[in-house]
Amino acid sequence: MLLTLAFGLTLILLPCHLCARDRQLKHYEFSLPRMGTTFSIEFYSPDDAAASKAADAAFARAEELEQVMSDYREDSELMRLAREGASAPFPASNDLYDVLAKSIRISELSHGAFDVTVGPLVELWRKARTTHRFPDASELAKAKTLVDYRNIELDGARRTVFLKRAGMKLDLGAIGKGYAADQMLALLQSRGIRQTMVVAGGEVALGAPPPGKAGWKVAIDTPDTGAGNPPCTLLLHDIAVSTSGDSKQFVEVNGKRYSHVIDPSTGMALEGTASTTVIAKDATTTDALGTALSVLPAAEGMRLAESLAGVAALWVRQAGNGWRRYASRGFPKGCPGLE
Ligand code: ADP
Ligand code: MG
Repeated sequence: MLLTLAFGLTLILLPCHLCARDRQLKHYEFSLPRMGTTFSIEFYSPDDAAASKAADAAFARAEELEQVMSDYREDSELMRLAREGASAPFPASNDLYDVLAKSIRISELSHGAFDVTVGPLVELWRKARTTHRFPDASELAKAKTLVDYRNIELDGARRTVFLKRAGMKLDLGAIGKGYAADQMLALLQSRGIRQTMVVAGGEVALGAPPPGKAGWKVAIDTPDTGAGNPPCTLLLHDIAVSTSGDSKQFVEVNGKRYSHVIDPSTGMALEGTASTTVIAKDATTTDALGTALSVLPAAEGMRLAESLAGVAALWVRQAGNGWRRYASRGFPKGCPGLE
């Protein structure tokens, strides 16, 4: 009787204690342009001043990372590495070293489908986007000789980066936003703000769910919804999710549509419209893996996703006049019409 009473009391008291604390929490949302896209953060905090200070610090961290990783700013650390890193080992900041180490890991896992040395090819395809002319075959072949992640030499003890071929250009476009999302989330969490969602372009890093909710509602932007397919909406927390295959970034040449994602093994931009969504423990991984799984053939991509603990993926591909949606084992509920 006493036991039952004590148990009953605990049960009643516990949720009420949480309610009282959560009732004081207010919802905050901030967004700013960063890394050529919009970054937003949403979180719950009891205090306006602390919330605005934390948001400022999170965006300042993103700005700091942009100055490390940008390939548009001539004075970024990444551009300095491209200029100096082939003559002598380049002493890198912790952020640059860390993001390159993680990049190489995803390159190894994907056998080079994701490769941050893709810079010379990206340059040619960017030019094609403005001229609407196909990149020259000999230029593509020449650029391809500079693309190979195995030519980046990291020295873990000295924290240096050496580029084994002169002319190599690194491009963090497929991992930098995910890395920034993780760093912003970690910064907010270190200030005691736990119920947080960070969205860096298409890369989403999630902390604890909003008060009283089972998770954050994440709408997955798949290219088939215009054709009447139901949207995918996932309820997630303490995890990351990215969708690669931005339908807004493409180039059209001779009536064909090419993506901004390049297959490093051929030098060619991917054709057509497709999206790949990845869920994993951090956004650095989901960002880079999303690109890798866009490039890899279907069966190989599925094998890779299913071989990695805590990773799930969703592919949306054109099939004839329609679309196919298929997912790896363990992809969360919320995406109708999976094969
Ligand atoms: P989004 O920017 O829409 O999230 P991605 O994460 O797939 O898309 O990143 C695409 C960008 O990454 C390209 O604009 C280019 O800068 C770079 N990139 C293209 N192909 C590759 C590749 N195979 N491996 C690594 N980076 C790539
Ligand atoms: Mg990516």
